[in-house]
Amino acid sequence: MTDSIKHVAITGGTHGNELTGVHLVKHWQSHPIEVKRSSFSTELHLTNPKANKEVRRYIDQDLNRQFNIHDLNNNELAGYEQQRAKSLNKLLGPKENPRVDFVIDMHTTTANMGMSLIFNTDDPLLVGMAFYIKQHMPHAALFYNPSERLEDNFLTSMGRLNGFLIEVGPIAQGLLNYQVYSETQKAVLHALDYLELKNTGQALDLPTQMPGYKFTQKTPLPENERGEISAMVHPNLQDKDYHAIHPGDPLFITLAGETIVYEGESTVYGAFINEAAYYDQHIGLSFMEKIDITLRDSNL
Ligand SMILES: [Zn+2]
Repeated sequence: MTDSIKHVAITGGTHGNELTGVHLVKHWQSHPIEVKRSSFSTELHLTNPKANKEVRRYIDQDLNRQFNIHDLNNNELAGYEQQRAKSLNKLLGPKENPRVDFVIDMHTTTANMGMSLIFNTDDPLLVGMAFYIKQHMPHAALFYNPSERLEDNFLTSMGRLNGFLIEVGPIAQGLLNYQVYSETQKAVLHALDYLELKNTGQALDLPTQMPGYKFTQKTPLPENERGEISAMVHPNLQDKDYHAIHPGDPLFITLAGETIVYEGESTVYGAFINEAAYYDQHIGLSFMEKIDITLRDSNL
């Protein structure tokens, strides 16, 4: 049996310009009954207040890349988000043996990814949560990004039994949009319901397999010899998150209008296509592999 869950943290504003999570946290702070469940406590945290105040993704570093165990224990890393990560490690952790059992972190994307449920382990607790939410929100995409919890640099890895990242788009940075807000709200409430059912030993009636996507790599935007962006996402690919990209399909189009095609040998699927937050790193999209995700029997 999975360990019981006693403390769940819902976090928003990890990226300061993703306002949906910020305002859901504020909403639930004034309506705590909505996130209250009988078998565990729910706590609400705004994780990057300074960036949020300035409506910027981050002040010094991307907060959602600061949570691997080595960086948390490295006191020379003293930028604003690096200090925030250390404070959150005290509040939720410590990472090696966290006080909080599960973290639900809310994000938005400028890409046309709809409701994406991002999780980093095939542990039945997380896969079951993804399946449960998809049962209730069939349009949700399951986004599997495997990594080891202590090494993982995402905030969600601060949960003792790991965590779950809810990523909804498309929405511009710095905006609220009710559809995105209410979708995120529904997904979080389903996640809490799932944990409650699981905690209290109730039947879940989940399928043993559901289709999803596995992250394989980030794909850079083409650059010229001076390292400047020389091409953009091709119009045929724009907004086509989770669609197949076959060898020879257009990926980018240069400033002069020349098409650059995908030269890989196998079909891939795109995600975070033309994500605004990745322009500082010159990343055009992520490649995904289509997979069947299996729910292992957690009682074995
Ligand atoms: Zn984000």
